[in-house]
Amino acid sequence: MTITPVTPVIKKTDLLGFTLPQLQQWLVERGEAAFRGKQIYNWIYQRLAADFATMTNLPQALRSRLEAEASIGPGIVRSEQHSKDDRTRKILLELSDGKLIESVLMLYPPLGESSARATVCVSSQAGCAFGCTFCATGQMGFDRHLSAGEIVAQVLYFARELRAAPWVAAGLPGSRPIDHITNIVLMGMGEPLHNYDNVLQALRILNSAEGFNLGARHMTVSTVGLVPAILKLSQEPLQVN
Ligand code: SF4
Repeated sequence: MTITPVTPVIKKTDLLGFTLPQLQQWLVERGEAAFRGKQIYNWIYQRLAADFATMTNLPQALRSRLEAEASIGPGIVRSEQHSKDDRTRKILLELSDGKLIESVLMLYPPLGESSARATVCVSSQAGCAFGCTFCATGQMGFDRHLSAGEIVAQVLYFARELRAAPWVAAGLPGSRPIDHITNIVLMGMGEPLHNYDNVLQALRILNSAEGFNLGARHMTVSTVGLVPAILKLSQEPLQVN
């Protein structure tokens, strides 16, 4: 009998689930310098890098190590649909365990004094436990909570897309193209306050001044009304809507 050696599968760490101090700690635990954390954060959230190979100010050995041990978000985009006027874009994202979730980018042209807006409607769970009768997700039942990294990944996907191809409102000649995400709403699949800790972690990561730097007032958590969680959220230093 021949025995085929089994190559151990290393579960990669999703760096999108880390705040900057957590990323620095993760690096230090692996014998790397803490300052590399800021460089990596800058690549991920400001330069919107989707893979480690592009992080050219990191030593090659560290880039190779990151490729082997870490990931920048989970998932594969299985489909993307744009509305005819291109103001709404919906993606179907497959997570690492095969679960499917939806995220939507909504683009609003400038109106009067206000500039154009790009809002991502983010999912916080695969399925939902609340079963609201008007909602398709509610009819699916609850599958699982999304990790903070899986929540952040949805925003970064559309941020990269807009950076690569800024959107200009059709029929409004002279209006400035928009090339970044201005708002997020936790209003996709799932009840965000049922996944309180991961949602809050994702909001902290997206709010980080060293990272994506999205203002708390540009983040909205939509809930069916989980009163204890609403009260808890209102006590957090991060004052989201
Ligand atoms: S809480 Fe939201 S996602 Fe869940 S069933 Fe109700 S409307 Fe749908």
